[in-house]
Amino acid sequence: ESPDAPAKPGLLGRLLGRETKAVVRRTLDDDMLEQLEELLIASDMGVDTALRVTANIAEGRFGKKLSTEEIKDLLAAEIARIMGSVAKPMPIYPKKPQVVLVVGVNGSGKTTTIGKLASQFKAAGKSVVIAAGDTFRAAAVEQLQVWGDRAGVPVLTAPEGSDPASLAYDAMVRAEADGADLLMIDTAGRLQNRKDLMEELAKIVRVIRKKDETAPHNTLLVLDATTGQNALSQVETFQKLADVSGLVMTKLDGTAKGGVLVALADKFGLPIHAIGVGEQIDDLAPFDPEEFARALTG
Ligand code: GDP
Repeated sequence: ESPDAPAKPGLLGRLLGRETKAVVRRTLDDDMLEQLEELLIASDMGVDTALRVTANIAEGRFGKKLSTEEIKDLLAAEIARIMGSVAKPMPIYPKKPQVVLVVGVNGSGKTTTIGKLASQFKAAGKSVVIAAGDTFRAAAVEQLQVWGDRAGVPVLTAPEGSDPASLAYDAMVRAEADGADLLMIDTAGRLQNRKDLMEELAKIVRVIRKKDETAPHNTLLVLDATTGQNALSQVETFQKLADVSGLVMTKLDGTAKGGVLVALADKFGLPIHAIGVGEQIDDLAPFDPEEFARALTG
């Protein structure tokens, strides 16, 4: 689907929809608020956040008559306000190499995102090295190599089943020797075995700190936006496993239910560095709160 495809009917589109837009005025009463809440919940915003958003809109306006456009604008403004505080590109530090640990469950889009980011950093004049740290999935390593080729970035690998921490260490040595600006380390995403994964991630961190005690400088959690409320529990889990510093939300091209981003922002306040909007190398965009709010309320 092209990014220029007509927007799907947004939330309010469905509620207030084809009615003669601006002329119709509705009273912002309990009934109206309840309908708004339901729509927000249907967009995967979650109950708590949906209630907070509608309460903020109602404040000082309860019982007033508002046009559909005014209600849309209020909702979009409220969502953009919440999202404004989390829309931040991944910070770049004066560190060589800056170590970016990438975590997330299998299938969330980690490999693809690493490829897209590597390509963007390279286009920005940075030299990048990738370490294929999911050494237990041969297919994952191969995929990462494909993405590395696409981005024109070297991908360091280790034999299947070997210790990801030792690969990470070798990658540190190599990135340093090459004078690379960024080292991106892919990691396993087998949540079925949480204890192993925790130990594995902890060991990677311990080992790279032998080379640079300030590393990793970023720990990116990649989340599939189409998993809805599930994304919330993934954040909770990965915050226990690693020191998550920011999020990349993938597959926002495929869902009208981006409401989970609002819930994430409201609940965790973690920066959203970028959004995945397709399967191609250039399909990674900065997160734009205004545009997002417009698309969601549409
Ligand atoms: P990983 O297991 O976490 O490394 O996930 P992958 O990077 O292999 O991605 C899993 C699937 O999601 C692949 O088919 C990707 O093409 C797809 N994917 C990743 N990011 C996006 C995105 O932003 N939009 C869409 N539509 N698909 C994506």
